[in-house]
Amino acid sequence: MNQLKVMDEKEIKRLEELDKKYFLHPTSSLKQHQEKGPKFIFTEGNGVYLKDVHGDQYIDALASLWNVNIGHGRKELGEVASQQMGKLAYSSAFNNLSHEPVIRLSEKLASLTPGDLNVFFYTSGGSESNDTAFKLVRHYWKLKGLPEKKKIIGLERGYHGVTVAASSATAIRQFQEMAPGKAPDFLHAVPHKTNCELGDKNDPDYARSLRGIIEREGAETIAAVIMEPVQGAGGIHIAPEGYFEAVRQLCDEYGILMIADEVICGFGRTGQMFGVDNWNVVPDVMSMAKGITSGYIQLGAVGITERLRDDLANVSNDVLFHGFTYSGHPTACAVALKNIDILEKENLVEHTKQMESVLAKGFNYLEEKHSIVAKSRAKGLLGAFELLADRENGIQFSPDKTVAPLLVEQCFKRKLIVRPVTYGGTNIIAMSPPLVMTKEEIETMIAIFDEAIKAVKKTIL
Ligand code: PMP
Repeated sequence: MNQLKVMDEKEIKRLEELDKKYFLHPTSSLKQHQEKGPKFIFTEGNGVYLKDVHGDQYIDALASLWNVNIGHGRKELGEVASQQMGKLAYSSAFNNLSHEPVIRLSEKLASLTPGDLNVFFYTSGGSESNDTAFKLVRHYWKLKGLPEKKKIIGLERGYHGVTVAASSATAIRQFQEMAPGKAPDFLHAVPHKTNCELGDKNDPDYARSLRGIIEREGAETIAAVIMEPVQGAGGIHIAPEGYFEAVRQLCDEYGILMIADEVICGFGRTGQMFGVDNWNVVPDVMSMAKGITSGYIQLGAVGITERLRDDLANVSNDVLFHGFTYSGHPTACAVALKNIDILEKENLVEHTKQMESVLAKGFNYLEEKHSIVAKSRAKGLLGAFELLADRENGIQFSPDKTVAPLLVEQCFKRKLIVRPVTYGGTNIIAMSPPLVMTKEEIETMIAIFDEAIKAVKKTIL
């Protein structure tokens, strides 16, 4: 990273005051913001590192918001954006207008996505992609003469975004409080219970399972299920082997469409180009964002099968009344193409796959050393561990003792950025570093966790 000319203290204070006064932060504690101002003000990034106004360098083990897959500071993306802006910064794709970057990106995505998911609609992010997916599947059933098929089933702990429909599909209650409440026709099933989906009625969770809910509600009322290949914001939960195959089978059995939310998992995060590739399952619809441009510019996409497109086109002679001004933004598409080019040329998906065992080894070391560390898991460079009061007996900390945020604070002090996920007494530490993270950088991160856990133990035990 360039040697940063550190900002003088007076200017830093002024920026902090202006931030407090004028900036309403997304998904942040407003009270804490008003009391303490912004946590960090970052000025530059390089690889897995971020530097702040004080000149301090942090390991960005969250890839900022699970999205900076190729790492910070890639000048090539800026150059491509600049060239495209100089040529054709923006033009619309409404009314069948088109341009080169969107055509080339669509061809590229078709070559990467599984099965016949070969047709793409564009958005500016994950929530818009999921809203689009819900509209498309509901529209599809309506055109098929089945307008009652409109319910969407997600999974508990699932996160799908914050627009009104996406936050209703999201099962994290706090995100629905502003809507207000959940929109009708969104349901949530108990996650990752393979045997229920295969029809084991003796399972105590059967009634809350996807199959149980479908039987209760009636398949004739259900449009689609939506799920993340690995649940992200809900705390990094990896489905057991056979789960997605069972869900695919279930959807086929009942005539329900399957939407894979690849917003976090897509573009290499789990050591495969897409999360579903870990299980060879082909969904009917795939929503994408984040890693499609590694966050260098806003872009989301929804992939649908050719069959779905043909059905939408055949049944209706009408206009598809859905489109954003920035659907297929030329500059964003050009940046996405370059981002994918870097992912491929630098073999970052394969590298991510290899780094999974390094991360897992680091987690094992932490579990051996610290009895409060438990249930560690990793899929590619998406990982987490939990903090338990009594690991032997699987006892959590009491819900009023949120230990994960304490540990994250200790990590911040040691220049490591990770995320706490807490609900009830569950304390999870989640991470998803840039896919360029090396073995040595993972080891440094684990050494920081080691020290941070020791510090937390002193305060809580
Ligand atoms: N789906 C998943 C799985 C996500 O993790 C997110 C964002 N964290 C979204 C959807 C929403 O994406 P966005 O914030 O770009 O709207």
